[in-house]
Amino acid sequence: MKENPRGPRFNGDQVLWKGDWVPLRSLLTSLPPEEFARLARARGLAFFEATHAFCGRCGAPMEPAPDAGTPHARRCSAPACEGRAAFSYPAFSVAVLAAVTRRGGEELLLAHNTAWPGPRMSLVAGFLQPGESLEDCVRREVLEETGLRVARPSFRGSQAWPFPCSLMCGFSAESEDGELRPDGVEIDRAEWVTRERFRAAAEWSPSAEGLQVPPRGSLSRQLMDAWAAGLQ
Ligand SMILES: [Zn+2]
Repeated sequence: MKENPRGPRFNGDQVLWKGDWVPLRSLLTSLPPEEFARLARARGLAFFEATHAFCGRCGAPMEPAPDAGTPHARRCSAPACEGRAAFSYPAFSVAVLAAVTRRGGEELLLAHNTAWPGPRMSLVAGFLQPGESLEDCVRREVLEETGLRVARPSFRGSQAWPFPCSLMCGFSAESEDGELRPDGVEIDRAEWVTRERFRAAAEWSPSAEGLQVPPRGSLSRQLMDAWAAGLQ
């Protein structure tokens, strides 16, 4: 068995798997969903504890709050702090994925994020902002990143995404116009893909050539596969 390379700073990024410490993300496609969900829960709780060691108002240490009515809640330990009355719960950053189609669903919009190497493509995605509904977020993210207006955002499912603490919410939507204008900041390339082209694509890999789509197991890929099967 190998030593955990992160030593005492281990916070759930890596999982002991068949005698080796491996990134949790690498197990997304090889573990049954219920086992991955258990690890995602552990990762989320470890991240919460690591990032809520001290009060955001006064800087005093946080302590467990067993009277909060839900496990793992914490509160400020300083009696005079106004933050002591407010429990902190394990929280998540909510993000949307948008499977945008046009021409009656014949083509799917894929985008290349400027942070990704090579020809990797995926769905448009982004984080929910305060005051938004999930549907608002879909419309805004697609417009900001690609210049397209979309109609009828429709919820398709969600997935815990513990990298480090997100909840992905999948939507389908229909494009109302056709001119792609990638923002050049987050997205440097976007294109419409037919089912035929999608089925010929490879999974994300440093060595693959041509169109690359996310690995099976991810919600983005599940939404793509549903579209390719004619279910969207
Ligand atoms: Zn405090």
